[in-house]
Amino acid sequence: MHQRPPFTLITLGTGAALPARGRYPTAQLVQVSGGCYLVDCGEGTQERLRAIGFNFQRISDIFISHLHGDHFLGLMGLISSMHLMGRQQPLTIHGPKELQEIIGVQLRASATYLRYPLHMRVTTPVNGTLLMEDEHVVVTALELQHRIPCTGFVFRERPGPLLLRPDRVSSIPKFRRNAVKMGEDLRLGDSEPIPNAELTLPPLPARAYAYCSDTAYAPSLIPYLKGVDLLYHEATFTTAMAARAKETMHSTAEQAAMIARDAGVGRLLLGHFSSRYKHAEVLLEEARPVFLNTELSYEGGVFHIG
Ligand SMILES: [Zn+2]
Repeated sequence: MHQRPPFTLITLGTGAALPARGRYPTAQLVQVSGGCYLVDCGEGTQERLRAIGFNFQRISDIFISHLHGDHFLGLMGLISSMHLMGRQQPLTIHGPKELQEIIGVQLRASATYLRYPLHMRVTTPVNGTLLMEDEHVVVTALELQHRIPCTGFVFRERPGPLLLRPDRVSSIPKFRRNAVKMGEDLRLGDSEPIPNAELTLPPLPARAYAYCSDTAYAPSLIPYLKGVDLLYHEATFTTAMAARAKETMHSTAEQAAMIARDAGVGRLLLGHFSSRYKHAEVLLEEARPVFLNTELSYEGGVFHIG
C-alpha cells in the first residue's frame, strides 16, 4: 500500500441565494497535502471555519467564482479578521476584476492598513486557463454559464513520486529508496548501475477535484471534467423547476448528473440548493437514476478525493 497525502474537501455552506434554516451560503475548504485553499466565501464563512475548528490563517489562496453576494459577501470580514489576528503571511485572492475595487474601497473607507500582503489575481473564465500553481496543486479555470462572468475551478494535485516495484524493493537499500523514487538509477559500489525503469512503476494518477457553481447546464465543460475524481456541481432546482433554472442560469439536479455521467467523473456532489427545498433528498432522488454515485453536500461535510 502506498500512503497518499490527504486531499479533502469540506463544504462549509450549501445554500443558494437566501440562507435557509440550517444552510449557509457557498464556501468550501480544499486541502491538498499541506496546502489550504478557500473556494467562494459567502456571508459568515469565518464563523463556519471557526465552527469546524480550522485556523483560517493557514489559507494561502481564496478563489471567488463570481460576484453574486451569496458567493463573496463573507470575504471582507475574513480579510479583516486575518488582519486583526496578526496575520503576516501573504494572502492571494483570485476573482473577477471588480473585486479589487470592492475590497479597496472598504479598506480605504475604514483607513485599514493590512499587516499582511494582499495580492489580487484576476481570473479568466476560459476553460483550461492556468490560474495558480504551487508545490501541492495546479488550479485551472472552468467557463461556467451564468448571468454574470463565473469561473469554476479544477484542483489537480502535483503528480507523486515514482513507485518502487514490489518485487524489487528489497534489493534497494533503504537510504537509496527516495532517490530512486525521484528517478535516479541505482548505483551500488563498483557494479553496473541498475536503470531506474527496472526498479519503478509510474506514479499513482494525480487526483482532481472540480467545482462548478453557479452554472446553467453546460456540456462544453465535459472535456475539462474528464478524469476528475470528485465533481461538485450546483443543483439549485428539481426538474419541475427546469424553466426557472434556465431563466436564472442555474442547473437542475438531473442536469448536474448528466454532466457527471457524460464526463465520466468518479463521484458527484450536489450543492447550492434552493431554499424552497427543506430536504435536499428530493434533488438526490432526481440525480441518482442518471448518475448513481451521487451524494449531497452538507454543512461541515468532509469528502475525501480519490
Ligand atoms: Zn450566482
